Amino acid sequence: MHLDPFELYQPTTIEEAVRLHAEHADGSDYLAGGTDLLPNYKMHLNLRPHLIALGNVAELEGISLDRVGAMVRLADLERDRAFASSYPGVGEAIREIATPLVRASGTVGGNLLLETRCFFFN
Ligand SMILES: Cc1cc2nc3c(=O)[nH]c(=O)nc-3n(C[C@H](O)[C@H](O)[C@H](O)COP(=O)(O)OP(=O)(O)OC[C@H]3O[C@@H](n4cnc5c(N)ncnc54)[C@H](O)[C@@H]3O)c2cc1C
Repeated sequence: MHLDPFELYQPTTIEEAVRLHAEHADGSDYLAGGTDLLPNYKMHLNLRPHLIALGNVAELEGISLDRVGAMVRLADLERDRAFASSYPGVGEAIREIATPLVRASGTVGGNLLLETRCFFFN
């Protein structure tokens, strides 16, 4: 398995990320933790030539009781004490996901927006 070349963009605002996505509507993906997208690319599934990495978009970070950023790591949300005491079911659900390593890189946005994990479907 190997990664084919792609063009990488590193926007710092949501506005810039959305604009890049619109400019490359014919072939771009957002990249968060990469735990789902990059293995798919290595298997040559749904390959796109433009990757828009969201790691530098500060607006997508942060946890409060009424807002969770799309780039919050699953492990960080699970460990957040204030959030866990208000929403214990969320932490319980996160602990069921994959492994600690995947949860340390995988984000909330990526978990909600990934393609099905079924290799045959993909
Ligand atoms: C071995 C393994 C086991 C797993 N087991 C489970 C499980 O038991 N239960 C479960 O629920 N999940 C499971 N997963 C899925 C895991 O939760 C996801 O891989 C992870 O949450 C994806 O997050 P990511 O940040 O790495 O996303 P990425 O891989 O970076 O992105 C995934 C998709 O979401 C899109 N995306 C990401 N962020 C955004 C955004 N902010 N806006 C728009 N689109 C976005 C990307 O373009 C891509 O299409 C498993 C994964 C692995 C590798």
